[in-house]
Amino acid sequence: MVFNGTASPTPNPISTTHSGRIHSVETCGTVDGPGVRFIIFTQGCLLRCQYCHNPDSRDLHSGTEVTVDSLITEIQKYRSYMNASGGGLTITGGEPLLQPEFIGEVFRRCQELNIHTALDTSGYPKFEQAKEVLKYVNLVLLDIKSFDPKIYHDVTHVELEPTLRFARHLNEINKPTWVRFVLVPNLTDAPHNVEGLAQFVAGLDCVEKVELLPFHQMGQYKWEQMGLNYPLKDTEPPTDEKIAEVRGIFEKYGLKVE
Ligand code: SF4
Repeated sequence: MVFNGTASPTPNPISTTHSGRIHSVETCGTVDGPGVRFIIFTQGCLLRCQYCHNPDSRDLHSGTEVTVDSLITEIQKYRSYMNASGGGLTITGGEPLLQPEFIGEVFRRCQELNIHTALDTSGYPKFEQAKEVLKYVNLVLLDIKSFDPKIYHDVTHVELEPTLRFARHLNEINKPTWVRFVLVPNLTDAPHNVEGLAQFVAGLDCVEKVELLPFHQMGQYKWEQMGLNYPLKDTEPPTDEKIAEVRGIFEKYGLKVE
């Protein structure tokens, strides 16, 4: 944590930190929320997803320490793109909720500037602090990596229930939410897994749509660069037929799928 030695005369409702650890930023992202977005990739994640595209963002101690002020200055340079496209700021990871005070402060400052805020999360860690962060979030992109608890654990190496509890909370506070599900052949595509997820999500009135993300191999090179054994190196992307079948399951429950 970095202190600038200046006491703030305005008490903030969220306990603030002035800096946090990030992996990188992307200035004109178009796939993590509506419009053109400034994307912050935070450093550190407790999950170990088999298909992780950013394994270098998982270590809790790597990355770069940056101040909230420097990020806000940078974000503001792209306001014209955001405004023209209906975009904003997305914080993703890694897992943003591992640094709740830091991201809460970035979101709070952006909302003060009328910049739309989106949080991309697994919903896994720090439930109580996450509730505070959500006060400054306009949209949640919730990654539910499976619904069958055993498959979820196989995919992520952690338990499913914290994510479901987070999802239920989003519904209780009526937070606009997009659910993201990565379709991986022979891993997440079991019909009962998809059916269970569709049924659960259909019960959440806060969900505006499901983003069905077909598995691809674009992250493989990073695993190799890091000397890690990539468990999905022989897995093919899902076929068009499989994607249509899974889309059909979600749609059967009245969900909008993109
Ligand atoms: S939650 Fe995201 S960053 Fe973390 S291991 Fe899974 S895919 Fe990688």
